[in-house]
Amino acid sequence: MSWRPLRIGLSARIYHPQAGATGLQSKSLHYLEQSVAHWAMSRDVMVLMIPAVSGDGLVNRSSIRLSDYPQYLDGLILQGGADINPQSYGEEPLHPDWAGDMVRDAYEMELLHEFMEAGKAVLGICRGAQLINVALGGTLYQDIATQIETATTHLHANYDRHSHAVEWSSDAGLAKLYPGVSSGQVVSIHHQAIKSLGRGLQVEARSEDGVIEAVRLQGKPYVLGLQWHPEFHPPGSADLLDSAPLLEEFLNAARGRRW
Ligand code: MN
Repeated sequence: MSWRPLRIGLSARIYHPQAGATGLQSKSLHYLEQSVAHWAMSRDVMVLMIPAVSGDGLVNRSSIRLSDYPQYLDGLILQGGADINPQSYGEEPLHPDWAGDMVRDAYEMELLHEFMEAGKAVLGICRGAQLINVALGGTLYQDIATQIETATTHLHANYDRHSHAVEWSSDAGLAKLYPGVSSGQVVSIHHQAIKSLGRGLQVEARSEDGVIEAVRLQGKPYVLGLQWHPEFHPPGSADLLDSAPLLEEFLNAARGRRW
């Protein structure tokens, strides 16, 4: 078979029309955040955003469904963004601001299950890690600051300039990616976190306050969730964890190679 670039699907971020808005903001927008696309594109990868299929479209769609995508794509990245709606894991929002985006939850859960069923590699970033956990039956803390007394800062006004350390044990998959190293500094932009683990998931890394920062599915297919933002770590950074081994591992799995 001749060489071809990997094709990685990227879940859409969804902007819902706001009451009273005009112009573009009166429309449903599906968008991607450039950094995460460009991070994947730092190797020979074509990135294709997969639009959601539910919602307020005017035109009848054809018979193409989300389940048709894995056949043509090698892997899936679930990108960051809105909170998960607590109803997606059987709770009511404790605060109106924490109600998240149920439409996006349903769309990304369907995508995740279709890619997993097809045996394709999946990488979840921030919200994506939480989505993986909830889709597999786990739960979340709705708000770290008010629900975990001992928590350090995971969300800061500095946005992607805020970082904290994560640690992993010698038997974690991360230990193979970073030989001789058991911790790293990562960009953290989240106020929710994994509480109970979804089926088949194992904790890969925690921050020093015990918050779960990475999870991995045991067995196949390749499913890794990172609570941090590898796409915001500049290559060659002296301070932040090198994101390249994580990308290589995901892409190797997408190629169908051993990881
Ligand atoms: Mn964090």
